[in-house]
Amino acid sequence: MMAAARHNLLERLPTVAGDYTENAPLAPLAWFRAGGAAEILFRPADSDDLARFLAAKPCDIPVSLFGSGSNILVRDGGIPGVVIRLGAAFRECRVDWQGDNAHVHAGAGAIDINVARFCRDAGVAGLEFLVGVPGTIGGALRMNAGAYGQEMADVTVEAEALDANGVRRRLTLKDLGFAYRDSAAPEDLIFLSAILEGRRGAASEIAERMAEIETSREDSQPIRTRTGGSTFINPPGEKAWELIDRAGCRGLKRGGAMVSEKHCNFLINTGGASAADLEGLGEEVRRRVKQETGITLEWEIRRIGRFADGLEGGAS
Ligand SMILES: Cc1cc2nc3c(=O)[nH]c(=O)nc-3n(C[C@H](O)[C@H](O)[C@H](O)COP(=O)(O)OP(=O)(O)OC[C@H]3O[C@@H](n4cnc5c(N)ncnc54)[C@H](O)[C@@H]3O)c2cc1C
Repeated sequence: MMAAARHNLLERLPTVAGDYTENAPLAPLAWFRAGGAAEILFRPADSDDLARFLAAKPCDIPVSLFGSGSNILVRDGGIPGVVIRLGAAFRECRVDWQGDNAHVHAGAGAIDINVARFCRDAGVAGLEFLVGVPGTIGGALRMNAGAYGQEMADVTVEAEALDANGVRRRLTLKDLGFAYRDSAAPEDLIFLSAILEGRRGAASEIAERMAEIETSREDSQPIRTRTGGSTFINPPGEKAWELIDRAGCRGLKRGGAMVSEKHCNFLINTGGASAADLEGLGEEVRRRVKQETGITLEWEIRRIGRFADGLEGGAS
């Protein structure tokens, strides 16, 4: 039944220059190394291919975006419909100088760390924080990613995106509606690129700042583990990790999932964790924090797809 449904889905999709993969495992692509498959994974050849796909695809077929999977927990039953992953054609990085002001054009598929390194080599200061955020520019726009006192809202001039019908749109900073680890831009927009603002700086100083950030992350976060980064957003005036610690959850386990000993707002796949283990552990942490402190933690990690029993989990 499922195989037949998948087959039918592929037949209903438009012809594209990129490629479709049926029943594509997403765990190898996600930082957690857990979770199910995409019913169809679509890698568009370029933005025109993606625009044509969106314009022609039947509107009842759900579409989701997968950046580098550093802030996503894919549930064990996988993601129905088409999951889009941006490839090499979306990794452009170039700089336009206006005097000492730099406008860095970065494709939505470009890895933040590579954009930071590009800026260092081009003598662009002000975007060093990107070395502290795993993920792509598209994911950073959606999440208003930030680290070490800066976030996307501070540096974004504008973004280009496709709407659900494949129509190109330019979004100003105001349109992007950045808030703490969030953007108010419509959820069905697919970011194609961003223009980020920097200024002329000395490569050696930029490199020094980046090295400081890298060392600090290495010391404070379990970045070499299978994790999704910060699990919960910091409630106003509070730090999520402190509340989790206070509720006695440091090191708490469920199946192969564990609350990091090093940074207890990080969940870790110690090996063989299912997405249900990770999500269940997160829910247990929320329950204990609420009981201990009266504060309800909200998920920062986006949990998407179906549970293993096929039930819809909804997106968050
Ligand atoms: C070890 C570790 C440390 C981290 N540290 C930080 C940190 O310091 N600060 C911080 O802010 N975050 C941090 N994160 C979280 C994560 O890196 C960021 O949220 C990142 O911006 C997500 O980018 P991504 O490409 O991996 O997006 P994904 O995780 O793949 O997706 C996240 C969301 O963005 C959407 N999305 C992705 N690409 C696009 C696109 N092109 N158009 C529209 N929507 C899109 C997805 O649909 C999804 O809703 C950390 C994560 C890890 C694993």
